[in-house]
Amino acid sequence: MGNKGSIAPRVLILGGTSEARALAAGLVARDVPVVSSLAGRVARPRLPEGEVRIGGFGGPDGLAAWLTEHGVTAVVDATHPFAERIGTSAATGAARAGVPLLRLQRPGWEPAPGDDWHWADTLGDAAELLPRLGTRVFLTSGRQGLATFADLTGLWFLARCVDPPEPPLPPRLEVLLSRGPYRVEEETELMRTHRIEVLVTKDSGGSMTEAKLVAARRLRVPVVVVRRPPRPPVPTVADVGTALEWTLGRVSGGLT
Ligand code: NAP
Repeated sequence: MGNKGSIAPRVLILGGTSEARALAAGLVARDVPVVSSLAGRVARPRLPEGEVRIGGFGGPDGLAAWLTEHGVTAVVDATHPFAERIGTSAATGAARAGVPLLRLQRPGWEPAPGDDWHWADTLGDAAELLPRLGTRVFLTSGRQGLATFADLTGLWFLARCVDPPEPPLPPRLEVLLSRGPYRVEEETELMRTHRIEVLVTKDSGGSMTEAKLVAARRLRVPVVVVRRPPRPPVPTVADVGTALEWTLGRVSGGLT
């Protein structure tokens, strides 16, 4: 991890997504020195290929210092669309260190015919919408936001998350620990078995967790979709191949 004497990583990927792992694999396959950074939120994260560091940088200044110290020539912010603080930190920190930054962000989901979607700006707005949409709720918005639903004592929740959630939690709650990808048949069965009346999701986008939306459409279950938070205006691409080309363009000529 950045030991003096070892080969200096030239590319930093801010990760925690499948796109970040795919980009790391693409760079490793081309012998580009890359280090992927994870926040350390998940107990047993899926690790990308290549070098990995875990934990925060200490804000934009910490990130800028880390980039300079490790001789980084390009940064790709491939963090999750809802990871707001690291996105701001990346924009400020990379600019301060004078290192080019690319944002790799998968497109959001779009409703299809038959969908009954209700957009919410925040998880709090999603919680306010729920009582008029149903009483048996499938929450797939992550364990960190569960406190937002803790006062909804009249509703029953099935919350699916990777690691166990911590209080405060809704009183009528069943927790399902699991990690995608999911298939439409499984999602349909899960929602049917639990007699789900409304689904809550962030607009994460991507195919790994999309099946629940198809299942909701089939079962005519309304969906509360939380909008993505704003991100700083940095050059952004939607697919791994384009991010790989951009990154190779930044390191070519410097490879040993
Ligand atoms: P966040 O609120 O944007 O970040 C909080 C702090 O965690 C940041 O200020 C930074 O600390 C540190 N951090 C975040 N991502 C990091 C990374 N990739 N490498 C090093 N430090 C990082 O983020 P979050 O919403 O808690 O998400 C944390 C991670 O989980 C992200 O990397 C994201 O890609 C992944 N993830 C998030 C979600 C989601 O719904 N939010 C879903 C799936 C995966 P310092 O300020 O100290 O640098």
